[in-house]
Amino acid sequence: AEGLSAAQRHLRDRARELAREAAAQAAETDRAEQYPWPMVRRMAEAGFLGMTIPREWGGAGLSYFDAVLAIEEFSRACAVCGRIVVEANMGAIGAVMAYGTPEQKRLAADLVLAGDKPAILITEPEAGSAATEMRTRAVRRGDTWVLDGDKTWITGGGVSRLHLVFARAVEDGEEKGIGGFLVVREGDAPPPGMSVRRIPSMGLRGMPEAEIALRGVAVPDAMVLRPPGGFPRGFGRLMDAYNGQRVGAATVALGLAAGAYEHALGYARRRRQFGRPIAEFQGLSWMLADMAIEIEAARAMVWRAARSAGPAGFPDRLAAAQAKVLASEMAIRVTNAALQVWGAAGYSRDNPMERYVRDARMFAIAGGTAQVLRNQVAELILGRKLPQTREGVLRLAAEEAA
Ligand code: FAD
Repeated sequence: AEGLSAAQRHLRDRARELAREAAAQAAETDRAEQYPWPMVRRMAEAGFLGMTIPREWGGAGLSYFDAVLAIEEFSRACAVCGRIVVEANMGAIGAVMAYGTPEQKRLAADLVLAGDKPAILITEPEAGSAATEMRTRAVRRGDTWVLDGDKTWITGGGVSRLHLVFARAVEDGEEKGIGGFLVVREGDAPPPGMSVRRIPSMGLRGMPEAEIALRGVAVPDAMVLRPPGGFPRGFGRLMDAYNGQRVGAATVALGLAAGAYEHALGYARRRRQFGRPIAEFQGLSWMLADMAIEIEAARAMVWRAARSAGPAGFPDRLAAAQAKVLASEMAIRVTNAALQVWGAAGYSRDNPMERYVRDARMFAIAGGTAQVLRNQVAELILGRKLPQTREGVLRLAAEEAA
């Protein structure tokens, strides 16, 4: 009925099975604010990291949609685990597999299959939504590029080995556009010139977020990720790869909501007040009905976006943006409603409901805010540019007047 193949149902069942272990450690991962290394090893052994890496590089050669099926299962139980599966299948690894040299693909595939969740470094203190205003520079000196700048809110900072750093490429004193630079942490310490400071965050506390300073970090030319069209088209092409990660983030939001809803459904059947199960009160049963409707709607959009990705390509921009706006805002509503069903018990840190609420909050912010994604949707449905800078608006007005 869901249009899944036998192999896809099997993949989902395997993920559901391992997600029981993820559920068992989720509260402790949150409390200790520790990256869940034991779960990472279990997920790597079971083949959930690097699923989308082509077989020739040692992966399973599965589709983005297949990955989405597994991500939802892990996210229902442990959203940190879900995010690890996202970033070990989409985002930076997707960009390297699409645009990298054979040497880069070998390096990235080996790292991810051994359990690395790569980091992607775009955001800077003064360049958030306006990402193209980034200041980090990569200056070419012979066969080496030297990176200087400050990145912030980098997921996995301090635990990731592979870093995809977005920076302005400067060659012969001239700026050529935005490129991707691969920086690898070899041992326990960050690579020379890189320093990491953790940012305490509201939710997903097992996943470090960090400020990363780059001071003269050397990158050999062989580690520059050059999409077709080179640096002038670099940002756009790298962001196409990021679309995959957007669908992954939407899936984590979906899984979180589905997990919270299941807990709410169970509690509504168990808990009695006024001599009846609270599920009998229409005020509450309609809340559960709305949650179920919203989750199904989000899943339909997430699946559509994931299925829009071709074998080597990335998901459709419009479908990915629509799915992420819907799923991220839905997850905030549904997790809060689920906590409400639990009453005071939902507010206790002895129960998982408050964690679901905290964990759900980031998806309308990270990876393009819900506002910025609405701008993208508007551009695509209107079929016109909607510049956000004042200069951009003036330039467009002048062009249209001419
Ligand atoms: P700002 O851009 O300062 O925006 C502030 C507010 O203004 C927002 O509500 C925004 O929607 C609104 N706004 C801004 N411009 C417009 C506009 N044109 N129209 C309408 N509203 C607008 N970045 C990375 O590079 N790598 C990561 O791994 C990563 N992980 C993250 C993980 C988490 C948990 C979080 C919270 C963030 C992460 N980010 C990461 C950063 C994230 O991508 C940025 O936070 C996001 O792009 C928004 O930038 P900002 O926070 O600076 O907000």
